[in-house]
Amino acid sequence: MNEQFPHLLQPLDLGFTQLRNRLVMGSMHTGLEDRFYNYGKLAAYFAERARGGVGLIITGGISPNRQGWLLPLGGTMNRYGDVINHRRVTQAVHKEGGKILMQILHAGRYGFHPFVVSASATKSAISKFKPKEMTENEILATIKDFGQCARLAQLAGYDGVEIMGSEGYLLNQFICRRVNQRTDRWGGALENRMRLPLEIVKETRGRVGARFIISYRLSLLDLVEGGNSRQEVIDIARALEAAGVTLLNTGIGWHEARIPTIATSVPRAAFRQVTGALRANLRIPVVASNRINTPEDAEAILASGEADLISMARPLLADPAFINKVAAGHPEQINTCIACNQGCLDQTFSGRRATCLVNPRAGFETELVYLKTGSPKKVAVVGAGMAGMSAATVAAERGHQVTLFEAAPAVGGQFTMAMAVPGKEEFRETVRYFQAEIQRTGVDLRLEHQVTAAQLRTFDAVVVATGVRPRIPSIPGVDHPKVMNYAEVLRGEKIPGQRVAVVGAGGIGVDMCEFLLHEPQQAIASWCQQWGVDLQGGGEGGLVAPVEPTIRRQVTLLQRKAGRMGAGPGKTTGWAHRLSLLQYKVRMLAGVDYLGIDDVGLHYRMDGEEAVLEVDTIILCTGQDSVRDVLQGQAEALPKNWYLVGGARVAGELDARRAIKEGAEIAARL
Ligand code: NAP
Ligand code: SF4
Repeated sequence: MNEQFPHLLQPLDLGFTQLRNRLVMGSMHTGLEDRFYNYGKLAAYFAERARGGVGLIITGGISPNRQGWLLPLGGTMNRYGDVINHRRVTQAVHKEGGKILMQILHAGRYGFHPFVVSASATKSAISKFKPKEMTENEILATIKDFGQCARLAQLAGYDGVEIMGSEGYLLNQFICRRVNQRTDRWGGALENRMRLPLEIVKETRGRVGARFIISYRLSLLDLVEGGNSRQEVIDIARALEAAGVTLLNTGIGWHEARIPTIATSVPRAAFRQVTGALRANLRIPVVASNRINTPEDAEAILASGEADLISMARPLLADPAFINKVAAGHPEQINTCIACNQGCLDQTFSGRRATCLVNPRAGFETELVYLKTGSPKKVAVVGAGMAGMSAATVAAERGHQVTLFEAAPAVGGQFTMAMAVPGKEEFRETVRYFQAEIQRTGVDLRLEHQVTAAQLRTFDAVVVATGVRPRIPSIPGVDHPKVMNYAEVLRGEKIPGQRVAVVGAGGIGVDMCEFLLHEPQQAIASWCQQWGVDLQGGGEGGLVAPVEPTIRRQVTLLQRKAGRMGAGPGKTTGWAHRLSLLQYKVRMLAGVDYLGIDDVGLHYRMDGEEAVLEVDTIILCTGQDSVRDVLQGQAEALPKNWYLVGGARVAGELDARRAIKEGAEIAARL
């Protein structure tokens, strides 16, 4: 056993079964579990995680009936045909020595379909559909459906089920006054509000017997008005324990909460003390979750007694072999989840299959395969940004002899700039991971090396991944000394003044505002103050009044397009960016024409009126152009097998997800 992580690697005896270590892969919807999808792909996805050593896996949410769907035709377990699909998953996981629970999720009023039901007929601000209030008979039928769903899961070979009671889904809707306005035996006092979850647990236990895991995911901090207090949460947890739950998993925040809980800007392990406070009141094992992404934090939480198990969902998408690397004494080789949501939740909420920005194989295990090559080639990769490092390390992993040329003194390319943005410190981990991979796979890295096409001619294949440079728009006066581009600012080469205009409100424009205004490496206490989170959870839903931040600069963000701005590109994180900019009083101007820049500032036209922004600094965040200098007039000198990837291929809408994916895909084919 690795002595650095004794608690994380310690097995857990549940009496009738044992978990091989303390890491749980938390539930995460991938899209693969939906009805009529290919359960072979889902089986391969989970088998890879089981092979990677995780102690327990929990599937994405599967509904017990049609009313409980999150999406039309979402994964459902209510007939024997479903059992056959799911057996493919359980058999694949068991073959790898893993254990797996099926999560039973009733979405309640979060369902995106016309059959939605809830405790009361109140619509959520994030939902399109108004729910129907459940009748007594519908409630009783739902309890039976949960029991039947669990029994079918047992027949499918699952080691247990998780009953989803957090994040604002149906059971959370019943348990909190926010949605539950009933006056019958299912509403009112806490004893009534928690009746439905308790009856479901009892029914489930009755259907599956004693030797089957029942995990219950309980919301510890609702982070919405009308949420429960700490004492109410403890009372519910105790009642669940008495009703027959084996494990208590935890959740933080409803989906409709306007406080980020898993975004990269949330400090690591921010909610550990909340789990600790609950665990002190229970005998059953408690699972800690939310923004825990390193073995060091996991070990510290377990060692301090704040939890018995650690749940990681996204970190296991990023690296299926997380725990095996810990056990082998190589935590530096972990491909760490950077909590960006770009590859996983942003995809899911756009109706696409979830994958991972830092691991393009996630969800595509049967499609993107890195086979050992039978004919090793001499491969040159030009550019050690994300696309280049991805191509180089995958090619080397497959057995090719790879040389990676980089003109700069360090690897990372554009990504090293993202690392400088407060709240994006996690991005450093990806650079560290690739550095470790370069070493492990034996890539020959040549830094500060401006390679020529003539030098490249000696290779069998060349991958050009020379990235992008900031686009300089043709605004009159753009060469004025008060103008800087985003790269110069993020690299610390130029220091902006007090009054700043940020030109361009894409992802980098929004990041730039955060860079100009936020404190770096925000501590948990100051993050809680900014967002109004009470980790003591004394009041309703764990909310307190937020503290106004100190405004360090006067910032105006501009774009030419009309419409709402300040959210950046992230579908699931955009609202938090926008709220953060509003907290820091960033002025946002959309639909502007840039007229010129001079000693006074930035002249622009908006709604037909000309105006000037009197600023000290103008920062250009106006997109990028491809860099292909190595090809200038020399492409014909390259070997026949040469490929362009990432920003060097297309600069528009370049993001790290596409860069890493393109690099890996080319390398998989070499
Ligand atoms: P971007 O998203 O394309 O935004 C560029 C901005 O510059 C646009 O808002 C555009 O708005 C403006 N612009 C473009 N050409 C201009 C011109 N000639 N003159 C004046 N304004 C111009 O690019 P980016 O912000 O540089 O980001 C690059 C990539 O990184 C994007 O794919 C982005 O998704 C990704 N990224 C993602 C995140 C994230 O958190 N997910 C963060 C940063 C970057 P108007 O044309 O309306 O003025
Ligand atoms: Fe983590 Fe981003 Fe990958 Fe999602 S896409 S698993 S948040 S690194």
